[in-house]
Amino acid sequence: MPITAIELLAQVPDSTVYVSWWKLVLVFLVFAGWTKFAEWVDKDTVAVNTYRVAWNLGVLALGATTLGLMLFVPIFGAGIAAAAVLCLAVMLGYVLHRNGLVVEHDKVLTAEHIGRLLSGKGGKGEKKLEVHEFVRITGPDKKPVTLPDDNEGRQAFALAQAVLFDALRRMGSDIFVQPAGEASKVRLMIDGVAADRDPIPRAEGDAIVGFFKRAAGLSLEERRKPQVGRLMATIADKKFDLIVRTQGSTAGEQLVVRILGDERTFKIGDLGFTDEQLGRVRDLLHEQHGVLLFTAPPKQGLSTTIHSVTRSKDAFLLNIQTLDYDDEIRIDNVTQHLHVPGGERSFYDDLVRVTRTDPDVIIVPTVKDRGVPPLLAEVAKKPQVITGIHALDLYDGLRRWISMVEDSKLVARGLRAIFHQRLARKLCTTCKAAYKPDAATLQKLSMPADQVLYRPPEAQFDKHGQPMLCEACGGSGYSGRVGVFVLLENDADVQQAIAAGGDELKAVLMKKSGLSLQQQALAKVLDGTTSIDEVIRVTRPVQQPRAAAPSSAKAAS
Ligand SMILES: [Zn+2]
Repeated sequence: MPITAIELLAQVPDSTVYVSWWKLVLVFLVFAGWTKFAEWVDKDTVAVNTYRVAWNLGVLALGATTLGLMLFVPIFGAGIAAAAVLCLAVMLGYVLHRNGLVVEHDKVLTAEHIGRLLSGKGGKGEKKLEVHEFVRITGPDKKPVTLPDDNEGRQAFALAQAVLFDALRRMGSDIFVQPAGEASKVRLMIDGVAADRDPIPRAEGDAIVGFFKRAAGLSLEERRKPQVGRLMATIADKKFDLIVRTQGSTAGEQLVVRILGDERTFKIGDLGFTDEQLGRVRDLLHEQHGVLLFTAPPKQGLSTTIHSVTRSKDAFLLNIQTLDYDDEIRIDNVTQHLHVPGGERSFYDDLVRVTRTDPDVIIVPTVKDRGVPPLLAEVAKKPQVITGIHALDLYDGLRRWISMVEDSKLVARGLRAIFHQRLARKLCTTCKAAYKPDAATLQKLSMPADQVLYRPPEAQFDKHGQPMLCEACGGSGYSGRVGVFVLLENDADVQQAIAAGGDELKAVLMKKSGLSLQQQALAKVLDGTTSIDEVIRVTRPVQQPRAAAPSSAKAAS
């Protein structure tokens, strides 16, 4: 016989057994505490730049478990005690985690924090940190990044300002912030030379990383995968583009800020070509076919040169198409295609598509993939092709290009000219010091006996024995860089030697004049642009660049 509804209801225990008013109040109090905690965690994970989604899910699971413990454990006292212990454990765990990510002042539940709370200085009434804005930072939405209201945000703002101001004032090209255990390393690249700053506490380093991520609109939760964003910085009416990159490593999340200043508008006349070279480059740029191959060791200004060459072409009259791995540098009126690594199409496929649009000029700033050089050499019959590869010197560049194209006859036919370059630091015009080199040096350099040269000044000290540093260059004696170039046109001799292959090529190059990088650099010593020491530094042989690897090759190349 089926059980009737009445009988079923009769089996339900008397509700007064389970619900008494004080139990309800206790459950409500625990729930209210949990809600406050959940709200705070949601906001705090963003503020301290930690895993927001994961922590929110954890807090939700905690809420469900707590509720379960209170409702379903038969002995109410035991259930609520277990729930309270669990809640406290998770809350404490979170506090320890987030305290590890912030500077001392922003830690919570420390003696100092509780003291502040008790004396009424905490929370809303807290005195705001004094912060100065040296550099105006503009976000991707073109709106200025404003000074935050909370002290944690203000501190991150101040730290980021300090490191950015330091870099911009010294005309740095990159800022690196890298975690290393309890500390963070801060490094600037100034004129291609690394300048390490004193390490800062890890929490401050992380605050700087967090500031740049937030300002550039990057995901704060993503701390592992590479992210890229853009900002603009203005200091004394001078504008800079900032490319912000973050990426996780085993040590933690690291930050690289690339600073783009004047080079965003460089044309060929700004690079350091001699007048004679500049005339030849202008003529070459007017031609309608053939490959112009630029070569340099890594981080010696190769992409800056190719972008400057691109800007020097007439973008109104010509259909110019570029294909690159990044679109950091934007050039007006030029169609810039971006290759996305790991996407559906290979770089080669993308290049094929570009060639089908009937361009007048194809520009591939960096060649990394197999199959690309043969295609570039092949298509250069109609459009002009401008491209770059890493190489140790001019001969090495030519040899590499021949091996990459895999057809020396095609190279001999299609190559129009090859360039090689290095970057030399320019002497600081404020503090450079004239001197007369000794006779032996002058003779070695085939310079006249009365030749005056320049170099960084001797170290100067004030009456307290403190070093007096030049304001303009920070005491390095150098400020800015200039390209030193050699250039070889593929004339009949060279063509023949390339097609023949083997040792003949080197012999032909030896006979050509103007191919000595050192001679070209010494010309810049004679006119006072740079020093002999700098020429020795930049023209010494460099290590073999690594074979094509499509990841790095970014910073300052
Ligand atoms: Zn100086």
